[in-house]
Order: sequence, then C-alpha cells, then structure tokens
Amino acid sequence: MKTITLEEPGRFSLSDTPEPPAPGEGEAQVKIHRVGICGTDIHAYRGTMPFFTYPVVPGHELGVEVVATGIGVSNVREGDRCSVEPYLNCGHCPMCRAGRTNACIELKVLGIHTDGGMRELINVPAHKLHPSSVLPYEHLALVETLGIGCHAVQRAGLAEGENILVVGAGPIGLTVMAFARLAGAQVYAMDLNAERLGFCRREMQVQGTFLAGKGEPVGELREMLDGSMPSVVFDATGYGPSMEASLHFVQPGGRLVYVGVWNGSIGIDDPELHRKELTIMASRNAPSDDFPLIINNLESGQLTVNSWITHRCRESELMEQFPAWLQPEAGLLKGVVSFAH
Ligand SMILES: [Zn+2]
Ligand SMILES: [Zn+2]
Repeated sequence: MKTITLEEPGRFSLSDTPEPPAPGEGEAQVKIHRVGICGTDIHAYRGTMPFFTYPVVPGHELGVEVVATGIGVSNVREGDRCSVEPYLNCGHCPMCRAGRTNACIELKVLGIHTDGGMRELINVPAHKLHPSSVLPYEHLALVETLGIGCHAVQRAGLAEGENILVVGAGPIGLTVMAFARLAGAQVYAMDLNAERLGFCRREMQVQGTFLAGKGEPVGELREMLDGSMPSVVFDATGYGPSMEASLHFVQPGGRLVYVGVWNGSIGIDDPELHRKELTIMASRNAPSDDFPLIINNLESGQLTVNSWITHRCRESELMEQFPAWLQPEAGLLKGVVSFAH
C-alpha cells in the first residue's frame, strides 16, 4: 500500500509498504481518505519539533472509512465514515482515570509519537473512531483540529456575552474563535498578519481585529472594547514573547489560556499577575467526548470549515507541492491530502 514517510527534516518519501494484519480484538481497520496538514506537521518537516524522531509516517488529522472490525467492536461497522481521535492514551494513569485522556501521562499521538495515517490502511482502537453518516471525509479530517479550540473554550468556562481576545489567527486560533462564538462570547482577534485578520472579519464574524506589532496594544484594545479589557485571552501563537505579552491584555480577575505550545520557558510579570488576581491555564489536545460534539456542530451547520481549506493535493503530489505550500505568499491555512484508492 502507498505510504508517505517523513524520512528526515525536509524529505518525504512515497513507498510501497505491507498492509496491516486483520484488526485485533477491539480494533478496526480503516481506509484513509483525507489527511489534514497542521502546524505540527510543518514543524516536523522543518525540523523544529522538539524530541521528534525520524523517520515517521505523519498524519493525525484523519477522515477514514471502516473496512473491517475485530472481535468485540460494536460502535462502528464496515462502511462507516469516521473521524479518528489520534490520542492513544494508556487508560490507567491518574489523568486517564480523571477522564482527561487528552493529557494522559503516557500519551502517544498518531503521526507524531507513533506512525500515523499517511498511508492507505491502518488499524486503530475502535473506540477512537467517531462516525458521521453525513459529513464528507474532508470535514471529518478537520475534527481533530477543531477539538483544540473546543477544549480551550471549555477550559476557560466561557459565559455568554464575555469579551474574549484570541492572539494568533492561524488555524488553531480560528478553532478557538469558532467555539467562543458558539459559546456566545464577543470575539476579538489579534495577529501580525493583516490578511489573516481580514479572514477573521469575513469568515469568523469577529467583533473586531487588532494588528499587533506596532502601537500601544493595551490602550488600543481598551479603546476598542469601550474602556474594558477581555475577560479571557487565548494565546494561540505558540511563541514565548507573545505569551508573555498576552498577560497584559487580560482584565482583572480574568483568565489567560495558553493554547499554543512554546518550546522553552516563559516569564510571567508577577506584580501584574497578582495585582489582577489572574488565572493562567494550559489547554492540550481534546478529550474523547469533544469529538461527537464537534461532529454534531458540523452536521447542524453551526460550524463551517469549507473556507479554511486553502490547499489540496493527492498523496502522489505531496512531495512536489509541500515546499511551495510553506512559502509565505502561498497563504496556507489548512492543507488536505487525499488518498486515491
Ligand atoms: Zn493537528
Ligand atoms: Zn493515561
């Protein structure tokens, strides 16, 4: 079967590999139809992912079809179209026991810590499959990405009508905006890239956008919000200096949620933290329960992601096209790879 491997930074290969064995107890064998490309994949390709080992079969955003099931599988059957929850958790650590499977102590993410879905067939635990009879494979492939925003918004415990700011208007920031809007918040977006902010105004119906990198952001934000500051700030940049600055945008008593990950330490302005009695929290991946919820939101049309997909290719074209996707002028938001069978 066709398999794409990231052999080392900057080099994919397309090869023929043996098909997986028949699915074992509790497993399902799935045919891969669509694979979303995200920031993690780009970091891996660029060699900027810490502790990433090569070679690896990437692919953790998957829209799949069930082709066989093992003994004891009842939640899916042959022919079902599914999204894959790629977070393989241990099931017995304190985090798993608390239902926080997204942050399992021994978590292995498909396509990151273990070979993922850039191949025609894989076996996965059947309970990691979330079916939809309605959604196309392309949208099922985006459910995992949407989970990042869904979980971040749940972490913040957003109430209707809150003013919130999302710093970083890349794909992860967009997922936060989408779920914050569903929660009834007034959403503001900040980014260094004016085009991305334009996308937020057109496609995400945000209340206001703020171009970072110049001026005096605290004062300008306060003006935009009629004298107040956001009660929740989500930092989706994964960039340390931005994460430090975001503390200054939160109103007293507010929450700061770090959605993006930075590979290093960040400094916290403690007098500011204490003066405002702020709460800082991290958000990682998404628990299992979020997947059916997101699928419902997509099926009902409350969430739409069509306009997010800016680049598409077939598996045979990825090696040639990927470097061009990474050029700033390409305007990549979400790329989707399709497997032809
Ligand atoms: Zn991803
Ligand atoms: Zn665990």
